[in-house]
Amino acid sequence: MYKAKALLGEKAGEVIYAKDPDLTHDLCRRWKIYCYECTQFLYFNESKDSEKRDNWFSHYDYPDKNCSERNSSDKGKAQQGFSSESREQDLETAESFIEKVFYGIDPEFFQRQNSEEIEDNSSLILSSIKWLQENLQYKCNAWISHYCRKVGFLGWKNPGREISYLMDWLHVLYRRHDVLENLLGYFISIYLSSEFEINAIQAKFGTSSSNQKEEDLIWLIILDRVIGQLSSVARDGVSSTIINTVALRTFIEFKIPPNEKKTPFRGKLKYTLDNKQMSVAVKNLESGDLVEYVCFDKDHTNYFYYIRYGKGNDISDSKSTGFSKDDSLHLHMDDDGDLAVKGFLDRKLAKSVTKGISKVLLNGSAYSMLVFLRKGYISRDVAEKAAQLALRFEFGNLSPPEAFEKFRSLSGIKTR
Ligand SMILES: [Zn+2]
Repeated sequence: MYKAKALLGEKAGEVIYAKDPDLTHDLCRRWKIYCYECTQFLYFNESKDSEKRDNWFSHYDYPDKNCSERNSSDKGKAQQGFSSESREQDLETAESFIEKVFYGIDPEFFQRQNSEEIEDNSSLILSSIKWLQENLQYKCNAWISHYCRKVGFLGWKNPGREISYLMDWLHVLYRRHDVLENLLGYFISIYLSSEFEINAIQAKFGTSSSNQKEEDLIWLIILDRVIGQLSSVARDGVSSTIINTVALRTFIEFKIPPNEKKTPFRGKLKYTLDNKQMSVAVKNLESGDLVEYVCFDKDHTNYFYYIRYGKGNDISDSKSTGFSKDDSLHLHMDDDGDLAVKGFLDRKLAKSVTKGISKVLLNGSAYSMLVFLRKGYISRDVAEKAAQLALRFEFGNLSPPEAFEKFRSLSGIKTR
């Protein structure tokens, strides 16, 4: 497709054109370009010809591929082999921006929040989601239109642009059900516990009825606060300090899968490392500035952190990560006798942790279960089980102690 809209920056709320000769990947990343039909984020493709007249936008690889724009325009390009998400534009970074914006309303709250708190208000959350579904197009639109005409957004002095910008944001929020649920949980707990100048809020949105439904009142409060947050984000961007503090923790539990190919053995084991804590980088994010780490700590055998940090941060020093057992993940044998992990983790990391921990435990490179055992980061039974998983593809079902000895001999280490 050749047209998109921008959520941020000087073009916020406006249409941008792929053929614009001044458009760059960098600008598209900063402007958070999205599809005017489905509000999914898009990425920019630069045509190889120097005229740049054939530049275009594509939808990311979202699970929901029903957008008519995606189907009418992306397909042809994909068939020509142009479908790769390019130049450090990636879906994960684009979508995590949504979380930063909305959780930025109260970072400390969303950091603390856990699933139990949401459960308590679940029926009101569900009816409020339904409310949005039923009222977004008319009632919400009427409220927002009144707001933009009477109060105005960011001094844009262009009600048409303001209304469509705010309505697009609400569609973006509606598309992200997980964020919407958390946000509702937050506002409902506030709404039920605080006094509000509801008359003043009603006046801003041109509604004054005293017998409004509970969901109406909740959404008026939400719109008021969300518009405040969006104006600060549109004016100043999202605060970079929120990146590491906003995190919704979720309980995860999974079995560590065996290697699906031969375990590579290479490199010298890093026996010389003498840190109380060790952090091993396991994934570079495509956005280029974030790295995910598995961190072990001597004082907490069989526990590890899975965290995401900016590239510039040195986290090899134990002080900077503040390892705490309550916040970390536990390596253990589950009831089936399998090597498993459980604990609380940032929701956004839940997908990559399985790969990350397998990568460090099961490979035969400079960091492996041999080093972790030697350093006291993991126990012997965990190391033996990890060796079994590491070698299963190549050597079948060795017993854990056999596998451990095999692993050690393959690694060339002739210690006890
Ligand atoms: Zn679309």
